[in-house]
Formats: sequence, C-alpha cells, structure tokens
Amino acid sequence: MQRFGWTCAGLSDVGRVRETNEDSMYADEAAGVFVVADGMGGHAAGEVASAIAAERIGALLCRECDAATVEEARAAFLAAFDAAGKEIAAEAARHAERWGMGTTATVLFLDARGDYLIGQIGDSRAYVYRAGELHQLTRDHSWVQEQVDLGVLTPEQARLHPQSNLITRALGVDRDVSPDLYAGELRDGDVFLLASDGLSDMLAPTAIEEALARPGTLEATARSLVDEANRAGGSDNVSVLLVAVSREQAGA
Ligand code: CA
Repeated sequence: MQRFGWTCAGLSDVGRVRETNEDSMYADEAAGVFVVADGMGGHAAGEVASAIAAERIGALLCRECDAATVEEARAAFLAAFDAAGKEIAAEAARHAERWGMGTTATVLFLDARGDYLIGQIGDSRAYVYRAGELHQLTRDHSWVQEQVDLGVLTPEQARLHPQSNLITRALGVDRDVSPDLYAGELRDGDVFLLASDGLSDMLAPTAIEEALARPGTLEATARSLVDEANRAGGSDNVSVLLVAVSREQAGA
C-alpha cells in the first residue's frame, strides 16, 4: 500500500511595523496536524485569540484524528473549530478589554494513506506548490474577495487594497460560525504552505512561487519568505508553515 510521509518547518515574525505578533502557529508532525491563526482585537487580545485557536484546534485534532481518514476527520474539524470559537468568546466575556477579539484559522490535516483536509475561517491561506506551480487551496472570507467574486476588483487590486484586512468571518466573534472544508489527494513532492495575510498581502503569488522553486531546506525557504515579506514592507505580522510531502517506499 502506498504511504506518504512529511516534514515541516515554520517561522512567525512580528514584521517591521507592528509592536506585537498576534499570529499563532501549531504543528504536530507525527499527527499530521498544522495550524496558522491570525488574531485581532486590542490590548493584546488578538494574540490570546489566535493562541487559543491554534492550541485548542491543534490538540483536539491530534486526539480525534489519530488514524482517521479525511472523511472521518470532517466532523472533528467542525467540532474543534466550534470548541475554539466558544472558548475565545468565553474568554472575551470574562475580560472587558478583550471584548470582540477573534481570529482566523487555517488548519491542515494529512492522512498518510494519501489525502489531505483543510479547514479555514478568515483570510489566512493554504497553498500547495505542486509540479512547479503554486495553487491557492482556500478562499478568503474577506470584503475584497467578495469584490473579486463580483468582478469589481482583480486579485492584484484586492491584494493592494487599503481595506484588504476586512474579514467577513472570524472565529470567536461570530456565533455558530463554521469553517470551509477542502479535501484532496496528496502527490509526491507536494509542499503545502499555510500563511497569514502578512505574507499574501506583501508578496504577489509569483513571488511566493519563486521562493518555493529555489532549492534549499524547508527552513531556508520559510526564512526567505519571511525576509521577502519584510523587505516588501513588513506592514503586518507574517507567519509561514511549510509541509513537504513525499511518497514512502512500499513496505518501508
Ligand atoms: Ca494579519
């Protein structure tokens, strides 16, 4: 039977403008569970919200998705997002200064039998670099994405738009919010990229693709993506999580 393995590398950086980093990441290589979350809310509330999402969703999926197929993991994804959203809302209700805090969450689960599942709320993104091309796997919950869908803005105009940070769905803010789920098959050589909008707002897709095309370790690739986002302005926190997938030998 064909099986897949993977390795990961991640980097989160405050950027060149912000004073705090409100992004959070979670990675459990053995379980095949990876999360990037980008929090919002004043008085350090954003980093609280994103940390709750990353830790809570990550830990729940590690527990619930052990040996699960992607089909079996769907229910666990919905439950984990729901639990994290309720915990963020409860935390905000306990602390007046954290009222209204919320977060994005982009979550990747890999099944060694050859499938992936992504859950997403907000405007952090999942991409796959496959056969030399970058593909965006998720669709932003943002005002500018709606304008793109309506044909009012091009994707490049959306990326550079002053309102590009307005998101239309967030965990912890909206009640009964559910993630969009995307499932697909793994291919040998896939490199998944989870990233906060501090990467995708700073760098055009072609620049991200070029960074992934350059030879080097995953750690070096993560470093160069963050460095390039900072060179392009670094106006937001930037987080990247890379997962390189390979097919393992039969019987290995
Ligand atoms: Ca951000």
